[in-house]
Amino acid sequence: MSTIFATQLFTPTSAQTRVAFRPVAAAKLNNSAAAPPSLIRNEPVFAAPAPIIHPLLKEDMGNDSYEEAISALQKLLSEKAELGPVAAAKIDGITASLQATSSSATVPASESVERLKNGFIKFKREKYEKNPALYGELAKGQSPPYMVFACSDSRVCPSHVLDFQPGEAFVVRNVANMVPPYDQTKYAGVGAAIEYGVLHLKVKEIVVIGHSACGGIKGLMSFPFDGPNSTDFIEDWVKICLPAKSKVLSDHKETPFGDQCAQCEKEAVNVSLGNLLSYPFVRHGLVNKTLVLKGGYYDFVNGSFELWSLDFGLSAPLSV
Ligand SMILES: [Zn+2]
Repeated sequence: MSTIFATQLFTPTSAQTRVAFRPVAAAKLNNSAAAPPSLIRNEPVFAAPAPIIHPLLKEDMGNDSYEEAISALQKLLSEKAELGPVAAAKIDGITASLQATSSSATVPASESVERLKNGFIKFKREKYEKNPALYGELAKGQSPPYMVFACSDSRVCPSHVLDFQPGEAFVVRNVANMVPPYDQTKYAGVGAAIEYGVLHLKVKEIVVIGHSACGGIKGLMSFPFDGPNSTDFIEDWVKICLPAKSKVLSDHKETPFGDQCAQCEKEAVNVSLGNLLSYPFVRHGLVNKTLVLKGGYYDFVNGSFELWSLDFGLSAPLSV
């Protein structure tokens, strides 16, 4: 389909990644429609009356800003005594809210809620509050140079792997990092993201990143596609990259299945790059050289990252 003209391989020697495969937690599903699985409960996860994500939840958080806030309030009230009743009413509200929070804190929160809460507190303390310039700029808007397609796989977060900072990459993640062809009804979700990224955010580069041991690609290589689907969504979705499967099966007929899958993980990226050309605003960006497309491959078994460009040979339409 197209020519690979540039390949870079980054292999950090110390970055061997160990991957632990753990059994998936299983909920017992029975066939009765009336009885939902025990893990699904029709009740709010966050039962606290105050917002769960609040700096005051952590005793050692914001002590300094608390002192500063009190002294700023005292100063204001000494200068504008008429604000006293308003301040008193607001303080009553804050007191009531804090009392509610402290009484709800006696109910043990689930491990999951604690994990999320602590994660945000750590982020806020170590990143958000330490980079006021960055987050101040981002509060006004975003202008990311990259648009990235990556797999939903929990091991391949592009911000983690490529160290993207907030505001740097407009990211779409889905099963097997696929870009479907332009289709206003079937693939409106991806189409909206590409339209927004290219036309409104004016990203300079779209990078589609595949990865090792991709479950979606394994599915694509395994499903026979010769009868009714056995899944609600997955087969129809991964079918987007059927041309990659066909190419691998024809070029690597005798290769073991695992290696075929690895080949397909890269070929599928090329199919996605080709599909990007079906979006008129992407073609326009390529022809006018305001947009570049790249393919990437993250191998988390060997700790390497590969990046390549495709030469589509596009030219501006001739006008005579
Ligand atoms: Zn994947």
